[in-house]
Amino acid sequence: MKLLLIDDNELDRQAIIRTFKKTEWDIQITQASSATEGLAEFDENEFDAVLLDYRLPDMDGLDTLRLFVRHPIHHSAIIILTGAIEDEMLEQQCIEAGAQDVLFKSEIAHKHLTRAIVHARTRHLLERELQVSYQRLRTLAENDSLTGLANRYYFDESLRTAIPRAKRMNDQLALLFLDLDNFKFINDTLGHNAGDQMLKEIAHRLLDMVRDGDVVCRLGGDEFAILALNFESQDAIAQLAERILADLRRPVIIDNCEHFISASVGIATYPDAALNAPDMLKAADLAMYRAKRDGKNNYQFFSSALQAQVQERLRIEKELRALIPTDHFILYYQPIVNAQTLEICGAESLVRWNHPTRGILPPSEFIALAEETGLIIEIDSRSRLKACQQLSKWRAQKLVGNNFNMKFNLCAQLLTDDHLHEDIKADLDKTELPGSCIGLEITESVLIENFESTAKLLRKIQDLGVEISVDDFGTGYSSMAYLKELPARVLKIDQTFVQGVPESPNDCRILRAMIVFGQSLDLKIVIEGIETREQARLCRDYGTDYLQGYLFAKPIAPDAFENLLLSHNAEKWKRLLSTPIAVPDLIIPDINSNINNQGRQ
Ligand code: C2E
Ligand code: CA
Ligand code: CA
Repeated sequence: MKLLLIDDNELDRQAIIRTFKKTEWDIQITQASSATEGLAEFDENEFDAVLLDYRLPDMDGLDTLRLFVRHPIHHSAIIILTGAIEDEMLEQQCIEAGAQDVLFKSEIAHKHLTRAIVHARTRHLLERELQVSYQRLRTLAENDSLTGLANRYYFDESLRTAIPRAKRMNDQLALLFLDLDNFKFINDTLGHNAGDQMLKEIAHRLLDMVRDGDVVCRLGGDEFAILALNFESQDAIAQLAERILADLRRPVIIDNCEHFISASVGIATYPDAALNAPDMLKAADLAMYRAKRDGKNNYQFFSSALQAQVQERLRIEKELRALIPTDHFILYYQPIVNAQTLEICGAESLVRWNHPTRGILPPSEFIALAEETGLIIEIDSRSRLKACQQLSKWRAQKLVGNNFNMKFNLCAQLLTDDHLHEDIKADLDKTELPGSCIGLEITESVLIENFESTAKLLRKIQDLGVEISVDDFGTGYSSMAYLKELPARVLKIDQTFVQGVPESPNDCRILRAMIVFGQSLDLKIVIEGIETREQARLCRDYGTDYLQGYLFAKPIAPDAFENLLLSHNAEKWKRLLSTPIAVPDLIIPDINSNINNQGRQ
């Protein structure tokens, strides 16, 4: 038996040790002379019982007792020693606080002491057993109270026991981890009651779809999990996932109205993906995360390639976070050219990550991640100021005229920030630039998402003189009505529309129609991604206002851009475009006659 004896009085401690020596007990006693010392011993070692003096110099007796009773790891029988003459109140308080017994120092004789310890220990063990089994019963019985599905505890237990069973029987298991897409939107717009109804309906549908013996559980919030036992093949699980996704897409009726929801599903199988319960959950969670990134409303299986990707992502995220404050981001500039005069009339600033070991990285390596983690806000804000400072310097050096316009790309998150307007104004003030010499490029899809509030914010920014462009036009789904309402002055047609030009007559027609369409809304047109002189010629012939692309220059570092400005010769670029080129006949005629001809055919 291991005993911890805590008493500040050396004589009392010795008396107790002598008492034990008179017994036949095999007992090992550790001594401590203060509560702190005793607690430190208790942290480190396991004891069968603690003899605790009620009056210690460094801590109140009851407080000390509670610290022992509530210790997160070790549990021992605790016997309080007190020098006080019988005090019933004290005895009662100690028992209530969790002590197993209270002994008075005056009455410690060896028989008394050993009996007290044995009793205390037995009582303690019984209490513990009771407590543990009560806890187990309670948690086992606990279902998710909203949906009636199994709860997380039950699910964990099922998974834990299913794995060794599957191993014995040579079976496969699949864990499907389901997270509803945009459930927050339902909760926020329709209220929590509607959200609850939605969750109940989904629970019901999931239960209907699985086989007997499979476990469906609500892990919490809008997360569900299914444990599918002994499935035959990966295909069978894929089919189940497909059926679930299809079934969840059916409208949910709440208060006589139809509502729609979808889910993203991650799947981990045993033994392929993981061999134990925690790893299975982690793997399914990772795969679910991937499904979300792939546009939601789909399922993904866990694979080691996926894990490698995720690890790489985490690594980059860590680096991004660490490097943002140290200004490892630089700006490249790509000229924007007036389609008629071929003068450089502006530049688009494009961010690059100047990585300490991997060199200069393009946005494709980090922008998506920066957007997901919100780090893009910081990157964009810093870039904006930097580009303004650059422009201010070029203007002072007379490298560019007052009409030169510097464009920035703006991430979606910044558009929901009411401070954007003031921040831009502050950047302009700091660099003493008029608003009219900068422009914001905002992708089409972002504009449409929160149309009302975005349009309002953009109008305020436009009032500073700032020019707003709709970027990547043609890749989203803007309706014409939206475009008309937006405070945008420029339409930037996405580079995919120029790629097939001039070889594909169809692409030529579409490009031409887009230019006419934009100009009919009084918008200036930029075509980006111009790589060949044929493309440039044709876009110019179609009446576009500005051109941008590798043909003129790639995005380049500031000093290279300065050289470009210094050596720029519009006549040279004009000659480049004036060389006759072979263009399919049908696209040269006016678009209107083209449309009319087709109408008559
Ligand atoms: P974007 O705004 O559409 O920018 C144009 C992209 O097309 C740039 O890629 C540019 O280098 C590339 N490009 C220009 N001319 C040509 C050409 O003739 N051929 C081809 N194939 N490509 C051409 P980049 O610099 O890699 O940037 C990619 C995207 O990253 C940008 O697309 C933009 O969406 C985003 N991005 C870049 N800088 C920033 C930034 O500072 N903030 C934010 N939020 N996004 C940025
Ligand atoms: Ca852009
Ligand atoms: Ca673009």
